[in-house]
This record gives sequence, structure tokens and C-alpha cells, in this order.
Amino acid sequence: MPAAGIPLSPKNHIMTYEEVFLVAQKFVALGVTKIRITGGEPLVRKDVALILEKLATLPVELSITTNGVLIDKYIETFKACGIQKINVSIDSLDEQKFNTITRRNDFKKVMENIRLFVKDDFFKIKLNCVLMKGFNEDEIPAFIQLTKDLNINVRFIEFMPFDGNKWNLDQLVSHQQVLDKATQFFGNSLVGKIEDAPNDTSKNYRINNYQGSFAIISTVTNPFCDSCNRIRLTANGKLKNCLFSNGETDLLTALRNGESIETAIRVAINSKRKMRGGMDTQQQFTSDELRNQNRSMTAIGG
Ligand code: SF4
Repeated sequence: MPAAGIPLSPKNHIMTYEEVFLVAQKFVALGVTKIRITGGEPLVRKDVALILEKLATLPVELSITTNGVLIDKYIETFKACGIQKINVSIDSLDEQKFNTITRRNDFKKVMENIRLFVKDDFFKIKLNCVLMKGFNEDEIPAFIQLTKDLNINVRFIEFMPFDGNKWNLDQLVSHQQVLDKATQFFGNSLVGKIEDAPNDTSKNYRINNYQGSFAIISTVTNPFCDSCNRIRLTANGKLKNCLFSNGETDLLTALRNGESIETAIRVAINSKRKMRGGMDTQQQFTSDELRNQNRSMTAIGG
């Protein structure tokens, strides 16, 4: 989140919980089988429990990505809605650094919540850590150490260029650099590759005899767009067929006008570009001009 915050949307620009449900119903009718609720931070929305309860009536696997601050309040809701997969975004295990990057003092609360959920066998917890050189790449071993006793999956995400995030190639910690750090620290023979799930965005590894695992998401150095089956719906009802697509399809206006949204969904999905919203080369991907045509990550959701 930028220091100055971001302009807030008027309430009537945001989908109501009924509209979220109607749009989700349409996607499910078209074959979608998984829905992940992301943010900003989804749990700050007052009617989030209502949204989850409505979505839980659909034949989908529901999951959530959160900053972890409020998850303890929703533990029973998650269980009632069958939400097992919880991804917690946490970029540092150092309280000071965590507070600096999140502009909040919730480190202890987030760590307590992670441990609370890991203790409960119902949940499958992943931690998402965006790596930045000079900020947190020295914490790679500490993050992996967490998987020794905790059955979690720590995911290291390459820092990606978005509008407003001051991206710079020099700050990138690549897939290979993460692996090098891991093998230097734990020893080559103890870092093993484990199987990735179909359409998985991450490459997964485990330290021998550790309970949990770690993974690397390498959109910059090793894109995995050929197996991507993800689409995104923003809080104001715009469909993005790729995280990096500049174009958006306005489903909410069509819905409010009483029009069918099915054709618009089909057209948007069929026009999904082969790779990173059409930025096929590294030069295009790192171009300031193309990057600034997309929303910032804070306005897309994880
Ligand atoms: S197609 Fe877009 S959303 Fe899918 S993996 Fe590639 S960059 Fe990400």
C-alpha cells in the first residue's frame, strides 16, 4: 500500500454481496470450480461472512488470501464454509521490517494467527512472501526454517512490476537465487524437488525430513502462463483475463443493466493472451510505459 493510501471507491461502484454471488454463479455455470477471495484485504469488508456463506452454496472449492490480521475472528465461518486453503501474505519475519512494509504493528498478531491455524488440521496454510533484494532476501533460510516443525508451504514470489510499486530489475530475487540460497544454507543433498499440482503457479521443494515445504513463483524469470487457468474479478466487477492485462471487461454495469454477462465472459477469456497480458518479451515486461497501463497490485488483489 502506498504511503499516501489509494483513492477509495464510492460504495455504489463496488459489487454488493448479491452481485458477487450472481456473477460467481454465472462463472460456475460456465465451468469454474475454484474461487479464491483476495484483496486488498478481504476480511475488512463488513459483509465478508455473508459473501463466503453465499459462495459456499456453490459447487466450488473456496479459498482465501489474507494478511492474516483478522483470520482468528473468522475461524468458525471458514469451517462452516469449507474454506481450508488460507494463504497469508507475509514478507518479513522481522517485526521491524514487517511493520515498515505493512505500515501496521500487527506482526505478533499475524504470527499468533498463523500458529493458531496451523495447529488445526482442518486448514492448509500457505505463506506468500514477495522477495526484494536488500529488503528480505536474507530471510529466505528463516522462512524455510519455519517449515521444519510447521506443516505449511512457504511461497517465495518474484517481485513483479506493477504501476506504482517502484519495480526495478535490480531488486529482483530470481527463482535460481532462491534455490541457491536454500542449497547454500541447508546443503544441496537436503533440498529436494517435490511434485507440483496441475496448473500450479509454483515450483515446490522440501528440505529432507521437514514437515512443510517451500515453493517459488517465478513470473518474471520463468513464466508459467502456458498452464495458467486463472481469471480475476475486481471488487468493482471488472474481469481481468490475466494479472497483467491492460484491458478489463465491465461485468457489473452489464449485470446492473439487466444484460447477459455470459457473452462478455466468453469473449474476455477467449482473448486471453499467450503470456503476461501480451508482454511476451522481457523488454516489454519491464517497460515502464506498459506497466503503467495496468492497475496497481493494491487495486487488483493477490
Ligand atoms: S497468464 Fe497472466 S495471470 Fe496467468 S500466469 Fe501468466 S501472467 Fe499470471
